Amino acid sequence: MLNPSRTIAELKELRELTGNADGAQRVAFTPVWAAARNWLRGKLAQLPVEVHQDPAGNLWATLKGTSDRELLIGGHIDSVPNGGWLDGCLNVLAGLEVLRRFAEQGKPAVTIRLVDWADEEGARFGRSLFGSSAVSGSLAADEVRHLVDRDGITLPEALKSNGIDLDHAADARKELANAAAYLELHIEQGPVLERLNLPMGVVLGTFGVERHSITFTGQAAHSGSTPMDQRRDALAGVSRLHLSIREIASRHGGVCTVGRVTTKPGIVTAVVGEAEMTLDQRHLHAGTLATMYQDAISDSKKIAAAEKIEVCWQKIWSIQPFPFHAKLIEFGDQAIREVCGQSHRLPSGPLHDAAEICRAGVPTVMLFVQSLRGISHNKIEDTLEEHLALSVQALDRLADKVAGWISADQPSPHSDH
Ligand SMILES: [Zn+2]
Repeated sequence: MLNPSRTIAELKELRELTGNADGAQRVAFTPVWAAARNWLRGKLAQLPVEVHQDPAGNLWATLKGTSDRELLIGGHIDSVPNGGWLDGCLNVLAGLEVLRRFAEQGKPAVTIRLVDWADEEGARFGRSLFGSSAVSGSLAADEVRHLVDRDGITLPEALKSNGIDLDHAADARKELANAAAYLELHIEQGPVLERLNLPMGVVLGTFGVERHSITFTGQAAHSGSTPMDQRRDALAGVSRLHLSIREIASRHGGVCTVGRVTTKPGIVTAVVGEAEMTLDQRHLHAGTLATMYQDAISDSKKIAAAEKIEVCWQKIWSIQPFPFHAKLIEFGDQAIREVCGQSHRLPSGPLHDAAEICRAGVPTVMLFVQSLRGISHNKIEDTLEEHLALSVQALDRLADKVAGWISADQPSPHSDH
């Protein structure tokens, strides 16, 4: 029988084993992370499952079903330094409990697999979603080969000491050959569910991101001798665009953020000659994200003309949105309603391993459980224990529904890797 209180006890056990007064310390490819993995292997050894580490360092536990078609349940046992006690490992340990429940009932109709992704956080080398992007095929070894941690250790060296060869990481793609669906439970890491006073929500997908640097150029001039009507003040461009991106965000239902502004010459007695700002825009729909981006460009040009200054855009980074599978979202909604009474649909601002698996073409959905104060990546990260228990139950219900959906007459699994 499913035992959610066991999951809570195991979360605390893991916290004892791999945390300290500053929080969780399971940074991927470090000895503490390896200890967490060993602890997890110990739990898996008590189940009738096959366990192996794939060439990208992901740990897989497979409960053979009558059908080879697979239901995947994933999470990540790695954490940021001084992290919380739930981010990533709740997903893994709730998945473990669901796997136990399936195993207890004998051979399942479809194959059930638990996966612990390697280095979701990217805390040490700055590259998030390492293991899941190797599996999805979006990891380019040459783009990460040069990455170095704070102590001068390269990513390939750190991988090697954990039995992983970067040049063979892409071989992990074969793990998805029979994948028919992917499920992931995660803490929300934001304030939405708490504000609505709801324990859980189903995730519609992960936001796409457009990230740019925008530079306005005017004329640096003396703050005393330059009359107001003769200034070409570059900071006026930044100020006006910052206000306008807030309107763009609310008009389109996305989020837009200016996180950094720098000015030159940057002294108290000069009109600003050059001002640079960063702009991060996010939306769940690719078309709307593109519109938000175009709106910001067009506003910046109007502002530059009005202020008699120049504007120049430079791309920093972008990623497309990954909308989750409509049928699985429906199942997620049902599972949450059955367990919590009420559900809510919300997008995910942060990226997750689920985005990579969705990118690979596997039907995917996530469940979010409320985060207290909306805080994460910090030792004060927390969720009510009663909500944690509900989340294990909801994941279990969802897994049942999706396993039934897979074993019913479905098109053959994604296999063209
Ligand atoms: Zn996470």
